Amino acid sequence: MRKLVAGNWKMHGVAADLEQVKAIAVAARRFPSIEVALCLPVTLIERAVRAVPGLAIGAQDVHFNAKGAHTGCVAAAMLKDAGASLAIVGHSERREAQRESDAEVRAKAEAALAAGLGVILCVGESLAVREAGDAVGSVDAQLAASLPGRTADPGQLSIAYEPIWAIGTGKVPTMSEIGDMHAALRKRLVSAFAGKGIDVRILYGGSMKPMNAREIFAVADVDGALVGGASLTAEDFVPIVEAAAAAG
Ligand code: PEP
Repeated sequence: MRKLVAGNWKMHGVAADLEQVKAIAVAARRFPSIEVALCLPVTLIERAVRAVPGLAIGAQDVHFNAKGAHTGCVAAAMLKDAGASLAIVGHSERREAQRESDAEVRAKAEAALAAGLGVILCVGESLAVREAGDAVGSVDAQLAASLPGRTADPGQLSIAYEPIWAIGTGKVPTMSEIGDMHAALRKRLVSAFAGKGIDVRILYGGSMKPMNAREIFAVADVDGALVGGASLTAEDFVPIVEAAAAAG
C-alpha cells in the first residue's frame, strides 16, 4: 500500500505561503513511492492547484449537502470544481468547536466520496478517555459510527487516528499504544468492508515531527500521517515525507 502523508494547514496561509506549497511539491517528486497531499484553507485551494499541478490539494472540511441555504459552507462538488482531490472530515477541532456528531461526519464522508473526492476521516480519544483506560474501545466505537456505508470505495478512504491530547502538544502515544489502536481500527475496517478493509489507509496524526516520524512509520498498520504544525514549511514537512519513504 502506498503511504499517504498529508498536511493540515488549519487556519494558516495566505498567498505568500504558496512558496512553501511549491517547495513541498518540488521535494515531493523525489519520493514517488509516497502520496503527498496538502489540505489548505479553502481560499488557497484553487491558487495552489494552479501553482503545483502535480501535488494533491485538499480541503479541511466539506458540507454533507450538495447545495442549498448553508451560509459559509462549501459543498463537495465546489471543492472538486476548485481542483481539490480530497477532504478531511471529522477533525477533532471541528467535532469539538462545531459540535459535529459521528452521524454528521459520516454524512460528510459519504458526500465527499460520492463527489469523487478522497476522504481523510479523523477519530481520536481525549486525555480523560486515555487515562480511564478506554481509548481503544472508545475510538473503535467512534469509527464504527462515523464510517461511510458499504457502497463507498474503500480505496478512496483513509482514517486518521489522532489522539486529541497529542495534537499540537508535542506529546505522542507510545509506539505500542499506536500499534494497538491501529490494529483495532484495521479489524473494524475489515469487518465493515470485508476484504477491501485492508485497502483503507490508517494514518497517524498528533505532534508528528521530523525527529519522531521514522519510529512512528515503522509501527504496523501505520499507512501514513496527517501532519498539522510541521506541514507548514517544507523544512519540517519534507523530512517527514522522506521518513515515510525510508519506512517502505
Ligand atoms: C492535526 O491537527 O491534524 C495535527 C496532527 O496537528 P499537529 O501535527 O500540529 O499535532
